[in-house]
Amino acid sequence: MSLTPILLGALALLVLLVAGVAIWATSSSRRNRGVAVSSTTPLAEVEPAPGDEVPLELPEPSAGRMHRLRSRLARSQGLGSGLLALLSRDVIDAATWTEVEEALLSADLGVGPTQELLAALHTRVRVDAVRTPGEVRAILRDELLTLVNPTLDRTISSTRHDELPAVILVVGVNGTGKTTTVGKLARVLIADGHNVVLAAADTFRAAAADQLQTWGERVGASVVRGPEGGDPAAVAFDAVRAGIDAGADAVIIDTAGRLHTKVGLMDELGKVKRIVERQASIDEVLLVLDATTGQNGLVQARVFAEVVKVTGIVLTKLDGTAKGGIVVAVQRELGIPVKLVGLGEGADDLAPFDAAEFVDALLTAAN
Ligand code: GDP
Repeated sequence: MSLTPILLGALALLVLLVAGVAIWATSSSRRNRGVAVSSTTPLAEVEPAPGDEVPLELPEPSAGRMHRLRSRLARSQGLGSGLLALLSRDVIDAATWTEVEEALLSADLGVGPTQELLAALHTRVRVDAVRTPGEVRAILRDELLTLVNPTLDRTISSTRHDELPAVILVVGVNGTGKTTTVGKLARVLIADGHNVVLAAADTFRAAAADQLQTWGERVGASVVRGPEGGDPAAVAFDAVRAGIDAGADAVIIDTAGRLHTKVGLMDELGKVKRIVERQASIDEVLLVLDATTGQNGLVQARVFAEVVKVTGIVLTKLDGTAKGGIVVAVQRELGIPVKLVGLGEGADDLAPFDAAEFVDALLTAAN
């Protein structure tokens, strides 16, 4: 019997085996990287994202990031410095209290919280006869902390439950930092060991989807996107499907933030919500507000809160303003906790909000 057919057969088998291993390795590397998934493309036809060869970044752990607010605020003359200077005067008379009131109002604290803080400070300065700068600072810290309310639950639901990924809907007006926040939040979750899928459901701006894809590629999060002008709800649906199929921990949905009519906004977000909930519950609705817009941010917040059940506020650009009062105002007005704050344009400049760190940063900036 000739050995040639056997040898040829063995060779063919070997070639098939090597090819199989190579295909498996490629697809496995794709599964683990930032992959662009068109919302109309079956998962089997997923193409590797451009830049697939770039090494993945390892985001910083989220714990302790809030600390950097101190150095960011230190550059500005903010709420803390104004108040400390006023309360450390030799004579605190009616005119001084008026100035304190003005400082609080112009720091966006809001009328109600301003009156509360004034009354509390007034009582303590008078009754306790505090005078030294150290005592003034301690009282101010105490009272500001009470207003910021350290007891609020600021956790973000981002873990799988009922064998489904957590779904986080991110809403807000264009320009507030919504897409950036989705990218940064993905990094926070990835740093904490989660597996994340992103949905570019702001289909009205091609740039938003491109921007999100870049964020995803850098850390290995899949990004589901649709055609420009396509149905945002369809993209959200496909992303949740992809998240379920991939066994992801969380799906973060970036939504469109055009400032249009309330009815339009309601229809759009309502549809996204309905369609997503065919597959999984929405665990978190994060409203992104730009801290530098002050009262305007509050107006936006009211509109969104009427349209969707907002579960947490993301206050961006806190580095660009010392008007930290907006944290208190927005929590009071809406009864919703600030859960995350944006501290700059860097990829890891998003921090879980910590009330004590925040107040300390306001007062440290006063040095
Ligand atoms: P969107 O239109 O709401 O999606 O806004 P983008 O995410 O595109 O952000 C708008 C601009 O705000 C970008 O230039 C961001 O870099 C910037 N931005 C977002 N968050 C922060 C922040 O926390 N601090 C600063 N300084 N800039 C920010």
